[in-house]
Amino acid sequence: MELQSILDQIKSYNPQTDLGIVERAYDLAERAHRGQKRKSGQDYVQHCLHTAQTLATMKLDTTTIAAGLLHDVLDDTTIKAKEIEKEFGSEIAFLVQGISKLGKIKYRGEKRYIENLRKMFLAMAEDIRVVLIKLADRLHNMQTLRAIPERKQKRIALETLEIYAPLANRLGMGELKGELEDLSFPYIYPKEFRWLTQGLSEKYQTRAKYLERVKPILKKELAKANIAPLEIQTRAKHYYSLYKKLQKYEMNWEKIYDLIALRIIVKNIENCYAVLGVIHKNWKPLIGRIKDYIALPKPNGYQSLHTTVFCLDGKITEFQIRTPKMHQEAEYGIAAHWAYTETDKKAVVVDRHLAWVNQLRDWQKEVKASPDEFLDSLKIDFFKDRIFVFTPKGDVIDLPEGASPVDFAYQIHTQIGHCCAGAKIDGKLCALNQPLENGQVVEIITKKQEKPNRDWLSFVKTSQAKSRIKAWFRKTR
Ligand code: MN
Repeated sequence: MELQSILDQIKSYNPQTDLGIVERAYDLAERAHRGQKRKSGQDYVQHCLHTAQTLATMKLDTTTIAAGLLHDVLDDTTIKAKEIEKEFGSEIAFLVQGISKLGKIKYRGEKRYIENLRKMFLAMAEDIRVVLIKLADRLHNMQTLRAIPERKQKRIALETLEIYAPLANRLGMGELKGELEDLSFPYIYPKEFRWLTQGLSEKYQTRAKYLERVKPILKKELAKANIAPLEIQTRAKHYYSLYKKLQKYEMNWEKIYDLIALRIIVKNIENCYAVLGVIHKNWKPLIGRIKDYIALPKPNGYQSLHTTVFCLDGKITEFQIRTPKMHQEAEYGIAAHWAYTETDKKAVVVDRHLAWVNQLRDWQKEVKASPDEFLDSLKIDFFKDRIFVFTPKGDVIDLPEGASPVDFAYQIHTQIGHCCAGAKIDGKLCALNQPLENGQVVEIITKKQEKPNRDWLSFVKTSQAKSRIKAWFRKTR
């Protein structure tokens, strides 16, 4: 891969931007890694270029892309953070150091998993771009995983499946999540992967051929209604999500209607509904399969219209209808998926109704900002006044800045709040009004006979704690 293709890509979505910083970052990375090879035999700088290219695909700012090019120089070359700062400024130095920190944590089981996740959250709280670069780095590492020793392959693939793919998902990056999962799948479940992919290309081909027959009919019907679609895409479902879906339906292929999705992209919301009307006029919809995620977006912010109809030759076929903006957000959107509902036992419970998640979503909707502004705002407005602390088991509790152990206790459970007798921060006893800081492990000591104290109202920060303390006093009066 050549630097030029990345520069061209950046120019295509950000024509005004100064590419000098990207070029200089490349020069340094190329010089610093010169002579180093990847396990695959490629020059090391190819890894830097691939990482940067993924970031450009996400349409990120040049600062992030430059940091992506430099992401391994601290760990693998003699370049020092000071030099990066002098040459590229504190922002890029900060990002590169952040990635280096994340890279030091190795996944070796339950405890490490928690530790890893924790670092991720903290990095995120400081600057989400560190996480984006880490994800792009991981994507290329997964693409070249074959080259490394077998015993390491499985560990890295598992880490990808359990940490990085869910993170990508929560950041709204559906495409990246799918790719990371598919790259991990054969290493973690080789038998299942072989079973799934056996004969799959034939199934895909049959399906694709069929949909190619549907397309012109659909186009003609849309033209009759004066709708000119911007694009009609056929997109094969990702392997891993297909496998998960099959599991849900007792491995019955007949139940998979979206093996290849037919996606219709039209210029505005009115057209989306008009397309739905045209489809339903021509083909009978299946009951209970019409989903209006435009009027009622998924909790993670996803928007589209879905319908499943008895299509040409009576074959059951799923259609997805959306605008280009919805499409962009579904594929690459950052942060729209932050509040999530997965039931994975390892999932960290983040309150879905957190004010800042909603704020973020609203902001995304109304502001058509440049990538730079978008990221700036992510950094400053949304992560500034939140802290992440941990239960002794490693669950993340998200609190406003200045929150106390009492806020933490009520966040876990009302009863734990009411019976809160003391607290430990990082294993040391502390006062109940001690403000908590990012990354601390908080343990609440409860006593059955303990009762809420009116003084608590003078320092608690969350409305949850306030209202529950007040309710307790109201009830006991
Ligand atoms: Mn790397």
